[in-house]
Amino acid sequence: MTALLYLLSGVLFILGLRGLGSPRTARRGNQIAAVGMLVASVVTLVYVFDQARQSDALSVLWWVIILGALIGGAIGAVLALKVQMTSMPELVAAFNGFGGGASALVAFAAIVATDTIVGADVQYATETEVTVALSIAIGVVTLSGSFVAYGKLKGIITGKPVALPGGPYFNLMLVILMTAASVWAIAFNEPMGYWILAAIAVVLGVTGVIPIGGADMPVVISLLNSLSGVAAAMAGFVIGNQGLIIAGALVGAAGFILTVQMSEAMNRSIANVLFAGFGTEGAAPIDAGDKPVNSATPEDVAIALAYAQKVIIVPGYGLAVAQAQHAVRELATALEDRDVVVEYAIHPVAGRMPGHMNVLLAEADVPYDVLLDLDQANPKFPHTDVTLIVGANDVVNPSAREAGSVIYGMPILDVDLAATTVVIKRSLSPGFAGIDNPLFYMPSTLMLFSDAKVALENIHDALIEL
Ligand code: NDP
Repeated sequence: MTALLYLLSGVLFILGLRGLGSPRTARRGNQIAAVGMLVASVVTLVYVFDQARQSDALSVLWWVIILGALIGGAIGAVLALKVQMTSMPELVAAFNGFGGGASALVAFAAIVATDTIVGADVQYATETEVTVALSIAIGVVTLSGSFVAYGKLKGIITGKPVALPGGPYFNLMLVILMTAASVWAIAFNEPMGYWILAAIAVVLGVTGVIPIGGADMPVVISLLNSLSGVAAAMAGFVIGNQGLIIAGALVGAAGFILTVQMSEAMNRSIANVLFAGFGTEGAAPIDAGDKPVNSATPEDVAIALAYAQKVIIVPGYGLAVAQAQHAVRELATALEDRDVVVEYAIHPVAGRMPGHMNVLLAEADVPYDVLLDLDQANPKFPHTDVTLIVGANDVVNPSAREAGSVIYGMPILDVDLAATTVVIKRSLSPGFAGIDNPLFYMPSTLMLFSDAKVALENIHDALIEL
């Protein structure tokens, strides 16, 4: 019965993941996966209760479980309610770290602590010991690596890539040492090997993430998320829990696919993200000030939009910062009332996490059928009268087409092919990649320097007056 119910929760997780594949079904997918997790948790508790009832030797500290669930649930709920959309990657980083740490602790508790702390010299099957070593290694790397990522995103640690002496070879040496410690622990039945393994894994998490630049952190966080799943699956093997194996494997696979997709959207390989120290050099200096720009007022933009037939709105990170999703929707509705066709072009890495723009626009009830992805949007720009760029920068930077640029090869939205391009942002400051954007200086570009929400509201008011 337990195995069947774990299978049911696995099926619910898979259906949930399928739902998460599209913005239209994402909310439902999340709910289905949550029901799957509820089933798995209840089954585990009933199983533990049943085991304890059958064997006197097994006493369960129920108050620890209840207190743990209450404290953990309360912290999770408060964090999820309070977090700003712009701080979501940090929160995910912290959650991944705790996930990896929890898996490592389960493996530790199952075997290592029993041997070294309780003093019971039990012999375990070699495959169990291998999964213990893997769970500890991957879980602890995820824990320390995630907190370095958290620190970088929060600005506690420098967001710049920090070059380590020896570069990747230093980390390779740590991996070799970890393998040696694991062999010592497993082949010679020496629990101390696991403790040494954990200590080296803490260092590897730090030295693995610290050389990576802040702009690449979301990709790294996705990879760490994948690793936290693998660590959980390994812990599932250690304690023989099918639910944990299935859930961990799904997180591992989904996280890895996402990591690959994010790297591809930046035209980089995962190896390049992890080892290239992107952003240490080569960023073109920002020479704003001596190049002329066409500065526009909200009234100018309202006129350009009012007489357009086709408008494509391109949201970026600035939309999230300004929380301008409702303002953009209201402006789009006002334009639609004037028979202007309005669509939105969503770049896969716009914002700071996958799906960032989709989530914001869904919050403002923007219909899904007017959202275009990169491949759908690019053929439409040459036939578009006005592209309205709201707080986006790198994802519309035409220098990605020029060899030698640090973002060379990154697929971009070809907004400059439209008749008129309007860019709303507060200044000529660069985006996350830290490079200048030639789009701002093009003759067909109008720059509206303002906070995105204020600008959109002003354009809306001016449009109503026309
Ligand atoms: P960018 O970071 O390139 O640019 C955002 C722009 O928003 C800034 O130039 C800023 O200009 C402007 N801005 C900030 N606050 C406001 C505000 N209140 N009102 C108006 N404008 C504002 O964002 P993009 O979305 O174009 O690109 C995302 C970047 O993040 C890419 O480099 C991508 O590779 C990277 N990235 C994204 C990931 C993802 O999953 N989405 C993952 C990994 C990396 P100003 O200060 O002048 O206002």
